[in-house]
Amino acid sequence: MRVCPKCGYIDDLIWRHSLKYGIDWAPYSEFTQINPEIAQKLLKEKFVEEGYYVYHLTKGMNVERQAIFENPTYKQRWAIPIEAGRKGAKMTVVSKIMSRIKIERKNQTRLFEVTKNE
Ligand SMILES: [Zn+2]
Repeated sequence: MRVCPKCGYIDDLIWRHSLKYGIDWAPYSEFTQINPEIAQKLLKEKFVEEGYYVYHLTKGMNVERQAIFENPTYKQRWAIPIEAGRKGAKMTVVSKIMSRIKIERKNQTRLFEVTKNE
């Protein structure tokens, strides 16, 4: 179960942790009770985005979801394996995401600096 440390929001109880990085899953029969609209769409569409998440229905009739920001290229590759990074060093998906967030923050800082100078 996931609870937001800031506001105490508790995630829907149907979601189970998965062995795939960043992916939660729930049986379709349970998902359709809490989100019938997306459940219907998933019968026709391979991926359905809503809010922070993208949803996908597996052949085993489980709904998987992941945060779009964690895997923006989910259409090319739904599940992210842990990969070898540069120079043969192991670089986990988590460290990749952290370095991307750092770069984004740097760029944001630059934007602020530019704004200040104007
Ligand atoms: Zn919160």
